[in-house]
Amino acid sequence: MSLERILTDYGEPLQYVVYFGLLAALGMIETLTPGREGPAARTRRWPANFGLTLLNIVVLGALPVSGLAVAVLAQQQGWGLMQRYPLPLAWTLGVALLARSFVSYVVHVAMHKVPLLWRVHRVHHTDVFLDISTTVRFHPLEFLVQLAPTALTILALGLPPWTIMLYELIDTATNLFIHANARVPARVEAWLRHVLVTPDLHRVHHSALWPETDSNYGVVVPWWDRLFGTYRAAPSDPRETRLGLEECQDRRASSLRWLLALPFRGRVERLDQGA
Ligand SMILES: [Zn+2]
Repeated sequence: MSLERILTDYGEPLQYVVYFGLLAALGMIETLTPGREGPAARTRRWPANFGLTLLNIVVLGALPVSGLAVAVLAQQQGWGLMQRYPLPLAWTLGVALLARSFVSYVVHVAMHKVPLLWRVHRVHHTDVFLDISTTVRFHPLEFLVQLAPTALTILALGLPPWTIMLYELIDTATNLFIHANARVPARVEAWLRHVLVTPDLHRVHHSALWPETDSNYGVVVPWWDRLFGTYRAAPSDPRETRLGLEECQDRRASSLRWLLALPFRGRVERLDQGA
């Protein structure tokens, strides 16, 4: 069976295998040799983070549309550029991965710059510590925000289903990796950050300082950030990087109910520490 067939037929179960497999492996590494010592506060943060994860898995499973379903439709109907003008395999893969990662970059920038979308995306940014549990700490509405631009790109370009599935697998793996509280040796990190987003690069994106939050939008490759000037190599103070949102450093950030209602609130008032 070809790689294309395996990815198209078994892509979705494979995604769960990659997610739960890496979750267990990185979770073990985080526990045995944490990258950063600090108040991980698992008993406080994890119920909300994994509560949102569970909710997202249920919502995604229930959604009648997905990137893969749209790609299958485009292929069956012959819609889109690459269905009409097929390219050699390596080019197909290259174009698909670049296009898909570019859409993800643009949508992420929009979620930071458009106030209504930021209300949804800020749920992810309220976490005051980063570890594997932050990976799918998203409001379920965020998947809907991403769906329309992703589907339109797949339809316009006619991206084959297997390329979409491969991107989703890579995206799942890198998302876990960049949020994990694991140490990457400095030499490896210095080389890796040219090719993939690393935990150090993504940590800048989770900084509570605004210019830093509005940087490093890529979650798989750092190339779009470099191209469009949103790349930031390091936070202003690497030893004392405060994570989360300045206005929400208290217990509200760990309340599932509060987080689910967050997109429907306007400005978030700052409370005293520990309130
Ligand atoms: Zn963000």
